[in-house]
This record gives sequence, structure tokens and C-alpha cells, in this order.
Amino acid sequence: MTDDQSSWTGAVTERLRCCVCGESTDESPDYVLVELTAPPAGTRQWLGAHAGHLNAVLAEGFNVEVHLM
Ligand SMILES: [Zn+2]
Repeated sequence: MTDDQSSWTGAVTERLRCCVCGESTDESPDYVLVELTAPPAGTRQWLGAHAGHLNAVLAEGFNVEVHLM
């Protein structure tokens, strides 16, 4: 593990495959982690994706921005 931004995994310990194309996100500069919650129990699920692919399948008006930290 390094502190390099390319290794960012968010709240999950490793990068998840893109939920849109199914490919690895290991070297992707536009990796994003999506949190889904199911109230009222608050059950959580995480999805990884390439931001570009996620934008391509989101409804109009939704937009994913990548903020490099
Ligand atoms: Zn993808």
C-alpha cells in the first residue's frame, strides 16, 4: 500500500471492479466508490466504478465528479 492517489480505495480495503463494465479499476485515475444504503435498517453496499462509465449510465441530471485528494 502506498499513499499514492492511484491506490485510493475509500471505505473499502481494496479497489472494486467497475460495476458498469466489469473491468479492473486498479490503474484508473477516475475510480469512484458509490455507497448504497437501504433504510430503515441502514444496510450498506459499496460499488466501485470508473467515473466516466458511471456518468454514461446515470439518469439525466446526475453527474459524478472526481476530486483528487
Ligand atoms: Zn468501467
